[in-house]
Amino acid sequence: MAREWESVIGLEVHLQLNTGTKVWCGCSADYDNSPINTHTCPICLGHPGALPKLNEKVVEYAIKAALALNCDVNKVSRFDRKNYFYPDLTKGYQITQFDHPYAEHGHIDVTLKSGKERKVGITKIQIEEDTGKSMHAGDESFINYNRASMPLIEIVSEPDMRSSEEAYEYLNLLKDAIKYTEISDVSMELGSLRCDANISVRPKGEEKFGTRVEVKNLNSFKAVARAIDYEIGRQIETIEEGGSIDQETRLWDDEVQVTRVMRSKEEAMDYRFFPEPDLVRLVISDEQIEAIRETMPESKVDKMARFARDYKLSTTDAAILCEEMELADYYEAAVKASNNPKTTANWIMTEVLRVLKEENKDITEFSITSEDLGEIIKLIDGGKISSKIAKKLFEIKLTDERTPAEIVEAEGMAQVADTGAIEAMVDEVLANNPKLIEDYKEADEGRKPRVMKGLMGQVMKASKGKANPTIVTELLIKKLS
Ligand SMILES: [Zn+2]
Repeated sequence: MAREWESVIGLEVHLQLNTGTKVWCGCSADYDNSPINTHTCPICLGHPGALPKLNEKVVEYAIKAALALNCDVNKVSRFDRKNYFYPDLTKGYQITQFDHPYAEHGHIDVTLKSGKERKVGITKIQIEEDTGKSMHAGDESFINYNRASMPLIEIVSEPDMRSSEEAYEYLNLLKDAIKYTEISDVSMELGSLRCDANISVRPKGEEKFGTRVEVKNLNSFKAVARAIDYEIGRQIETIEEGGSIDQETRLWDDEVQVTRVMRSKEEAMDYRFFPEPDLVRLVISDEQIEAIRETMPESKVDKMARFARDYKLSTTDAAILCEEMELADYYEAAVKASNNPKTTANWIMTEVLRVLKEENKDITEFSITSEDLGEIIKLIDGGKISSKIAKKLFEIKLTDERTPAEIVEAEGMAQVADTGAIEAMVDEVLANNPKLIEDYKEADEGRKPRVMKGLMGQVMKASKGKANPTIVTELLIKKLS
C-alpha cells in the first residue's frame, strides 16, 4: 500500500517599507523612478567608516506591521551583521536582526474554502536592509545602488502550513493586513513584497520534519502555490523511488513550471552573524507601542465583520467593499448621506465599480463624491426619481458639476406623482391595448403578474420612465378589476 504523505510549508516574506527615506541614511527611497545611482551616499554605499543611523520611521512602521500581524514587540532587540559577498552589497555584509528580532510570536488565522481553519504562527519579524540591483546586458553588468539600504522587514512563518491553498490564503491575509496599515505597497509586481518558500514532506503521522528545500524566484502568489505543488510532488516521487531529498535552494521557473537547483548544502553560506558594532540596541517603550496602536486603522477583518453586522450585508458584499480601505471609506460616507446601506452597497458594487473598471481608475479618482452618490439614492428612496432615471442621472453626474437635485430639476427628470396625470396615461395605454386587457382577465393567478408587468412597462414608456411605479400599479389594479 502506498504511504500517505504530509507536506510542511513555511514562508519567508520580505516587505519594503515606504518610509520615504532609507533605513540608515537620509537618501530618498524612490529608487525605481529615479536615474540610476542618484540616491546614494557614503552610508548606503558602505564606505569604510561611514556610520549607519536608524531611521525612526522604520521603527514606527515595523511596529505597525507587528501589531497588524498579532506579534509581541520586544522591548529590546539587536542588529546583527550577516556577512557575505555580493556585487550589489558593497559593505560585504547586510545589517539585519538574527536571534534578537524586534517582534515575535504572531499569527494569522487562515480559513480555507472548505471552511477548515488553521492558525499559522509567525515566528519573528526582523528589520533589515535591501541590497542594490544588478542589471545584465550581454557580457556587461551594471549595478544600481539606489535600492541599497532600502528598509525591509522579513516576516518568518512557522512551518504550520500543510498545502498550497493554505500558503496562498496566508499570503493574501498577510497582504490585506499590511495594506490597511499603509506601511508598504505590498506589490509582488513592484518588488515591494517578495516571498520564499520552505517545503518538505514526511509520512503522515510522523513528528520529525523531512529535509527541507528552499524555493526562490516566486513572482506571484499563484506562482508560490504552483511551486509548492510541484515541489511536494517532486519530493514524494523522489522518496518513493528510493532516493533522498537534498537540503538545497531551488529556483522556480514559471515558464516551464518546475524548480531547479540553485545551490546545494555544500555551497550553503556560513554568514558568521555577529552583533552589529555600529548600532546600539533597539529599545522600544510601552508608551511608544501604545501610541502607535492608537493610530492603527481598523483591520480589514474587523471592518468586514462590522459591515456585515451593522449594515446587514452578506460576507461576500462586505469583502468586496473592504477590498480597498478607500473604497470602504467611500461606502461609509455614502451611507451617511443616503441612510440606505443595502442600496448604497448595490450601487457601488454594480455602477461605481463598473465605471472605475472601464476608466481604469481607483475610487480616490472617481468623479462622483460619496455625498452625491448618497443624494442620488436618497432621491430614489424619497420617490423623487425612479431607479431607472437614477441610472441616467448617475451617467450625467459622471461629468456634470451640478448637484444631483439640480440636474433632476433642470433636466425635468423628476418622477410624476400627480395621480391625475398618471391616470390619463394609464387610460391611454389601456385604450390602445385591448388585447392585453383580455389577456389579463383570462390569465390565471400565476400568469397575471406577468401581464401586469407588460402593461406597467407600456405606462412607464409613455411617461418616459418618470411615472411613480407605485401609483401606476395601484391605478392598473383598480381599473382592471
Ligand atoms: Zn544613503
